[in-house]
Amino acid sequence: MAGLSQRMVALGTARSEIREAFAFAQQRIAQVGAEQVEDFSLGNPSVPAPELVRQTAQALLDEMDPVALHGYTPAQGDAGVRAALAADLNRRFGTSYDRDCLYLTCGAAGALCCALHALCCPGDEFLTISPYFPEYKVFVESAGGTLVEVPARREDFQIDFAALEAALNEKTKAVLINSPNNPTGAVYPKAAIERLAAMLGEKSQEFGHTIYLISDEPYREIVYSDAPPPWVPDAYGNTLVCYSYSKSLSLPGQRMGYVLLPQTVEDFPLLYAALCGAGRALGYVCAPSLFQFVAARCTGVFSDLSIYRQNRDSLLTALRGMGYTCAQPEGAFYLFPQTPEPDAAAFCAKARALDLILVPGDSFGCGGHVRISYCVQPELIQRALPKFEKLARMYGLM
Ligand code: PLP
Repeated sequence: MAGLSQRMVALGTARSEIREAFAFAQQRIAQVGAEQVEDFSLGNPSVPAPELVRQTAQALLDEMDPVALHGYTPAQGDAGVRAALAADLNRRFGTSYDRDCLYLTCGAAGALCCALHALCCPGDEFLTISPYFPEYKVFVESAGGTLVEVPARREDFQIDFAALEAALNEKTKAVLINSPNNPTGAVYPKAAIERLAAMLGEKSQEFGHTIYLISDEPYREIVYSDAPPPWVPDAYGNTLVCYSYSKSLSLPGQRMGYVLLPQTVEDFPLLYAALCGAGRALGYVCAPSLFQFVAARCTGVFSDLSIYRQNRDSLLTALRGMGYTCAQPEGAFYLFPQTPEPDAAAFCAKARALDLILVPGDSFGCGGHVRISYCVQPELIQRALPKFEKLARMYGLM
């Protein structure tokens, strides 16, 4: 033990609460059967990848020279793949990116780690809006930075600009946002992104250095309003976009994602070099080659995401009807209701006693709430409703 990294031992020993809840659900399923347990712990897409993904992977396996298909690509990803992905972004967002704006990596996690390592200098702070994806703390601290949590507005989980302004200081290197959001489902509208851009521009001037914006967007396509989320670099040139195919194409196990670095970013070539350096230092070179090629051939194609809206509507309506207080999510596939007692862990324990598996909001930096991942089969929601109702009665909500 003395010769090991204490930090890594601690990270590897203390399982995330999400993983712990999932493991508990698995254990209960083994004991009492899958039809008795409703597991809302993980954000694992419940809809399959589109048929085109299977066909494309099959065609690549059948047709492409296996040495080229399975061989190393350049560290930042195959040039033709990056060109195809840049062209797709240009089509969708009216931009003019080229292949050298993209660094392909393993999912959004790899993208975030590369972006943070590329930016972080000793003493740097990274601000994020809480509640937030718990791995942000691990990723920021691994890069040598400090994560500063800025609470969102509690009523709708939108950015609290007064709190953000108060938290920005000369040590702030970047603000890390996630819209559509895990765990709240909040989507930041164009006006909020523009206000954020204006604030970061002013503060960069005031503190005499660039404050970057890292936009973590694995849920970009999972939105329920008619207006798609705004393209963040349009509002703020110093934005790094982290994307993944985990949710939109239901491919979390294939570990494909990228960092998009617009040419408008200050010190563009140097920052791109730093991204490549971060990928090298972390060993995140050459994202999985088969799925690089799949992604390039499947641009503009997404899983059938309609089931998530159906699940959101049925669960939200039912929970509100039982007396739970819950903001309406506009994207992603999570609900983040208030717990009827302030101790979310105690509420989750009562739910667990009914084999209803939820994750306390404390894991996301926001007590008094619970996260419900509704990327599940609709039948599972229907089965869970009597259990939510039982809890509501227990707490006198109805
Ligand atoms: N960022 C957020 C907000 C997420 O919810 C997730 C995964 O659930 C990730 C990043 C990591 O995504 P990936 O599986 O593509 O690495």
